[in-house]
Amino acid sequence: MKVDLKGKTLKELTDLFSGMGKEPYRARQVFRWLYEKLATSFDEMTDLSRSFRQELAERFRISWLDPSETRVSGDGTVKFLFTLEDGEGIESVIIPDGERRTVCVSTQAGCRMGCRFCATAGAGFVRNLTSAEIIGQVCYAEKFLRERGERVTNVVFMGMGEPLDNVDEVMKSIEILTSELGFGLGGKRVTVSTCGLVPEMKKIFHETRAQIAVSLNATTDRVRERLMPVNRKYPIAEIVDFLRSFDPGPGRKFTVEYVLIDGVNDSVEDAHRLGRLLKRCRVKVNLIPYNENEFSPFRSPPEGREEVFREILHRYGIQAIKRQRRGGDIEAACGQLRGKIRKKLARQYGEK
Ligand code: SAH
Repeated sequence: MKVDLKGKTLKELTDLFSGMGKEPYRARQVFRWLYEKLATSFDEMTDLSRSFRQELAERFRISWLDPSETRVSGDGTVKFLFTLEDGEGIESVIIPDGERRTVCVSTQAGCRMGCRFCATAGAGFVRNLTSAEIIGQVCYAEKFLRERGERVTNVVFMGMGEPLDNVDEVMKSIEILTSELGFGLGGKRVTVSTCGLVPEMKKIFHETRAQIAVSLNATTDRVRERLMPVNRKYPIAEIVDFLRSFDPGPGRKFTVEYVLIDGVNDSVEDAHRLGRLLKRCRVKVNLIPYNENEFSPFRSPPEGREEVFREILHRYGIQAIKRQRRGGDIEAACGQLRGKIRKKLARQYGEK
C-alpha cells in the first residue's frame, strides 16, 4: 500500500520530500493542502507542477474518513461513527457552544485503562489510532462545519481511549492542529485529557503547547483505585505533585476533571478533601455529573450536587465549573462512546 500523507507533520513531509530531492517549501505547500484546504487528491494541488503531482500520486495516498453514521442531538451536538480501513469503529463528537465548535476526538479503538464507570473501557481494547485517523476525524468535522459556514475552533482529546497511552501519534496530531500552516489552532484551544499517566503528562507539558486535563474522579486512593485501576501505578499524590510542581505559565492552565458518582465520590467530605488536595495547585476543576451507561452499576448524583462541590471548592480559592451534559440523547455524552465495539461485545455475550 502507498504511504499515507494524512497525519504527517511538516517535519515528516520535509524529510520525505528531501529524500526525493525536493525543496522544503514543497513540503509546506503539500502540508497546507492537506490540513488547510482539506485536499483529498493530488490533482487538487494546482500550485504544484503536473510532474510533481504525478510523482506524489505514484508513491503516496491521502486517506479520508467519512462517517458511516451521523447522529444529531436535540441540543445541537453531532456524533459521527467512523469505520476505519480495518473495520474498527470509532466515534467523534462536535459540541457547539455559542461561537465555539469543539471537536472531541478518539485516540484508540477501545481503551485498556479499565475505568469501571466508562462505556469505552467496558468494551475492551482493540488498538491505537494512527495520527492519520486522529487528524482524519478533525478534517471531517471541519468539512462538515465549513458547509454550514462554521469552523472547528477547539479540539479535545476526550473521546474513546486514553490519549497518553498512544502518546506519539497524539503528539503528532497536536503539532498538526497547532501549526500555523495546518489548522492554526492556538495551544489554548487544544486539550488532552488523561486518566493520569504522569510521565506522558510531563512530555505533553514540555514538548507541546496543548492544555492538560487530568481525570481525578476521587479524593482517596482507596476509592480511586476501585474506580480507576491506573491509580495503582500513579496514585493521587503523584498527580497532585505534578500539578503543584509545574507552573502552567501564561496562556496555559491545568484542568482537573471530577466525575460525580452518586454515593461513591460525591460527599461533602470528598469536596473538602478535594479542596485541600488542590488548594496550592493552579487548576480549574471541571465537575461532570455521571452519565449512566449499560456497562456500569454506577448512578448519576442527585440534582445540584455539583453546586455543593462548587461552593465548597470556592472556599479553598478553587474555581470550579459544571460541565453541561451534551448529546445524552444520542449517547454522545462523556463516557458513552463505544464505537462499533458494542456489536462485537453483543456477539461475544450472545445477546441479540
Ligand atoms: N482517557 C481520558 C479521556 C477520555 S474520558 C481520560 O481519562 O481523561 C473523558 C472524561 O470523561 C474523563 O474525565 C472521564 O473520567 C469522563 N467519563 C468517563 N465515563 C464517564 C461517564 N459515564 N460519565 C461522565 N464522565 C465520564
